[in-house]
Amino acid sequence: MTAQILDGKTLAQRLKGQLQTWLAEVSPQVGRPPGLAVIWVGDNPASAAYVGQKQKSCAQVGITSFGGQFPAHTSQGELAHLIQQFNQDERVDGILVQLPLPADLDSTKLLHTITPDKDVDGLHLVNLGKLLRGEPGLQSCTPAGVMRLLGHYQIPLAGKQAVVVGRSILVGKPLGLLLLASDATVTFAHSRTPDLAGLTRQADILISAVGRQGLITPQMVKPGAVVVDVGINRTPAGLVGDVDFVGVQAVASYLTPVPGGVGAMTVAQLLLNTVQSYGQRHELVMPQ
Ligand code: NDP
Repeated sequence: MTAQILDGKTLAQRLKGQLQTWLAEVSPQVGRPPGLAVIWVGDNPASAAYVGQKQKSCAQVGITSFGGQFPAHTSQGELAHLIQQFNQDERVDGILVQLPLPADLDSTKLLHTITPDKDVDGLHLVNLGKLLRGEPGLQSCTPAGVMRLLGHYQIPLAGKQAVVVGRSILVGKPLGLLLLASDATVTFAHSRTPDLAGLTRQADILISAVGRQGLITPQMVKPGAVVVDVGINRTPAGLVGDVDFVGVQAVASYLTPVPGGVGAMTVAQLLLNTVQSYGQRHELVMPQ
């Protein structure tokens, strides 16, 4: 068996094309394009790459970028004030704080300063609560992007065993909840899970969101499983995921590459979330 590639890059490009076409039509009617404010503190090189990708993608589809890079010594109060300004700024539909923040800043407190209807990263308690209740709201970009990718390839989820390795509030937990809402039977695994391989071998849908190169070997994958690699690991040879791509490709039925899988969908979902917020503000319905 050779797994079919879940091609996030191509789907993300298509979604961006659709957004660009739609925004070219509606932005002149509304009188302004959508706006996304990205707040990036310090000089973490990985954050620089992510913010650059996000701003470039915004420009491609017709979303105006606000915000910028702030020095590592910027205080909690200054950042909270900046977020309040963006909360009130009519040109801004989405506010994103690029994580991780320098260790002396309280990121949770800052994220809760963002007004929930501009919280395009879906990390405010209100949006997390809506996710838990199964109500519509802004959903975290990586989990929502993964669900969109699985949906595009019409991967059946109802009644399937899904194992999510990783339980962060950014990826693992919300993704598990979304899979549950799609009627999968979900198990979370984490650093304290004994016999990880025994668990992952039962998974019809296996998600790895850990950040450890080579964590998922072919022996840990059930033949025919759908494997989604969220992990991003920087190596001298470039970016790799958590999954032994070549080995697992011979066992799985579907597999996401790194890069070109989940990362591309995360950026596309951020644009979609920003436009969803813009649409709601102007009572426009974006075609699906
Ligand atoms: P975190 O570090 O917050 O969480 C990692 C999770 O992995 C934790 O729940 C941890 O368990 C678990 N874990 C660590 N070691 C093991 C192990 N040996 N076996 C099983 N579980 C383990 O990371 P994030 O959730 O923020 O990100 C996860 C990965 O996804 C990273 O590589 C990150 O770069 C990538 N990422 C990719 C994105 C994309 O767009 N493709 C977007 C966001 C993240 P415990 O809770 O017990 O500590």
